Amino acid sequence: MDGTSPPAAQATPYPDSYYAASRNPAPPRPRLEGRHSVDVCVVGGGYSGLSTAITLLERGHSVTLLEGAKIGWGASGRNGGQIVNGLNAGLDVFERRFGRDVAARVAKLVLEGGDLIRERVARYDIRCDLKDGNVFAAFNARHMRGLEAKRDLWASHGLTNLEMLDRAGMRAHADTDLYCGGMIDTRGGHMHPLNLALGEAVAVERLGGTIHEDSPVILAEPERARPLVRTAHGEIEARTLVLCGNAYLKGVVPGLEWRVMPVSTQVMATAPLGQDLARALMPSDTCVEDVRYILDYYRMSADHRLLFGGGTVYGGTDPRDIKRKLVASMRKVFPALAGTAIDHAWSGNFALSFLRVPQMGRLGASTYFAHGYSGHGVTGSHLFGRILGEAISGDLGRFDMFAGLPWLPFPGGRTFRVPYSVLGSWWYATRDRLGV
Ligand SMILES: Cc1cc2nc3c(=O)[nH]c(=O)nc-3n(C[C@H](O)[C@H](O)[C@H](O)COP(=O)(O)OP(=O)(O)OC[C@H]3O[C@@H](n4cnc5c(N)ncnc54)[C@H](O)[C@@H]3O)c2cc1C
Repeated sequence: MDGTSPPAAQATPYPDSYYAASRNPAPPRPRLEGRHSVDVCVVGGGYSGLSTAITLLERGHSVTLLEGAKIGWGASGRNGGQIVNGLNAGLDVFERRFGRDVAARVAKLVLEGGDLIRERVARYDIRCDLKDGNVFAAFNARHMRGLEAKRDLWASHGLTNLEMLDRAGMRAHADTDLYCGGMIDTRGGHMHPLNLALGEAVAVERLGGTIHEDSPVILAEPERARPLVRTAHGEIEARTLVLCGNAYLKGVVPGLEWRVMPVSTQVMATAPLGQDLARALMPSDTCVEDVRYILDYYRMSADHRLLFGGGTVYGGTDPRDIKRKLVASMRKVFPALAGTAIDHAWSGNFALSFLRVPQMGRLGASTYFAHGYSGHGVTGSHLFGRILGEAISGDLGRFDMFAGLPWLPFPGGRTFRVPYSVLGSWWYATRDRLGV
């Protein structure tokens, strides 16, 4: 298996990552066997599926969750661990595309995903090294103007968690010459992403839910009155089906495949740096991402490794030499780490939507889906899972707003969407390089 497609029917291990190597113990979860009829079936054991399941279980539903590999095997167990508030597309995009009312409603919920993570970590006692603060780093005056505009727009909606940083303020978070300033979101944060997912899975089970791992859905009939999914060894007919396979669902539900494009991004973990060096490089222990179109993102782990991520590959393939690609970027940020050993390097896929607006909706009368967080989905997937859970419980207000937003397919269709996207990103990356 190449790590980019839904796993085959046999047991599928985690990809080699720092997170897999430092994960909390988890109970074995059997694969699906035989025919079952259930209330709600959720496909996908990432944050979207887990958050939907927890919301429903807390409201008294019974839930069976099918995961093709292991809990958190997809993006949720591989990501940068950065709790970034918002829905990727900025409030300005919501305002421009969908009007001031929609933007105002979105503004009311941009902090909810991060709050939900904190609530669940506290309520279900999840050990995932949760910390506060995330910082956006700027290379030039144009970047700073963009951050100021975002801060002002959020403030106009009553959101006061964004604070500008001058050059010296930025150095208090990342000790590098690279940036001219930045902005901190005091309500952002970071955590061990796989341990968050594993803790949420334990919460699902504690609430009475059932989880089957190594149970990839190979056939789905979402439009039936009672939707049906089939795995190699079993079948589930459900009153309600929820599809949360995101970038890894691929062709299993053709109606969803062309709404989003899989894109890979990579992360590596250095050897432990020791507390002194870790604190010298990142004194505040927040996480940092820069604001370029193709960005770097990094933070320290609880055991003082630098976890450094970056780059994107449209179409979702893995680059041949992840370390080489990332080490070059890491050295530009922290030249002192030039000779540091890299213990782990891995790749994962997120689902990109053309407008960078995550999507949710319904197929037929009884199948729901959410996907397309476009690389910033730690908070969005938690929020969307909650909104799906509300909708299935009969509270449709927020679901209807998102489900009603028009979405655009990627230009170029099946053959050309990847090269067109590469061209577009080259254009934006060039603007970043030139500072215009
Ligand atoms: C390397 C990387 C770094 C990232 N860094 C950040 C970050 O720092 N901050 C941030 O906000 N966002 C980040 N993201 C994005 C974020 O991780 C995702 O948006 C989020 O985790 C999506 O959650 P999900 O549950 O929708 O999808 P996933 O976590 O991908 O979960 C989907 C699950 O569905 C399962 N599945 C798929 N098909 C089937 C099937 N047929 N049958 C059964 N199961 C199936 C998969 O095995 C998978 O476990 C990053 C993404 C990647 C890949």
